[in-house]
Amino acid sequence: MSLLSNLQPDLVLGGSILSLTPDIIKDQQLKGLVLDVDQTLVPMTTKAVSKELKQWVEEIRLVAALWLVSNNLSQSRIGNIADSLNLPYILGARKPSRRKLKRAVEAMNLPVEQVAMVGDRLFTDVLAGNRLGMFTILVEPIRDPTVSVASHPTRNLEVWLSQALGVSLSDKQQNFIKPDKTQKNEI
Ligand SMILES: [Mg+2]
Repeated sequence: MSLLSNLQPDLVLGGSILSLTPDIIKDQQLKGLVLDVDQTLVPMTTKAVSKELKQWVEEIRLVAALWLVSNNLSQSRIGNIADSLNLPYILGARKPSRRKLKRAVEAMNLPVEQVAMVGDRLFTDVLAGNRLGMFTILVEPIRDPTVSVASHPTRNLEVWLSQALGVSLSDKQQNFIKPDKTQKNEI
């Protein structure tokens, strides 16, 4: 499988993770979500979990199993965030490596195609999820309102490079859904 198809998210949300609704999860027949942490759930500038995120987790855990899988090595940061959300977590995942994602999917005891990798980065989250055969969802980074948009240079570069390679990234919610995953895996 090519790098291009591995960088292509199955679903591109035009908003943050808070715009991922139970209806979208049900429509895609997903039973589990592996969530990236930094910039997906919490801005890098804080450890505090927002009230909105807590509500989102409580709503979503009724329809899908949830795990946090982060590349961050900080036990105190990721552990505290996971504890405040009451979710299991894995640190130091080294995405795009598949190894720790696989561990989370196995812990859910679900077929890999029924689990989505949800994250803000193409070259870590989306690439790792696609390499494992998961459904992949790209979200907009959670922004700290006091920090400018230009403060995500790596993410912005990845988006630019991926689009230059031919990856389709819509800025409208659910405007783009990749053709059937099983079809893709047969290529
Ligand atoms: Mg991230």
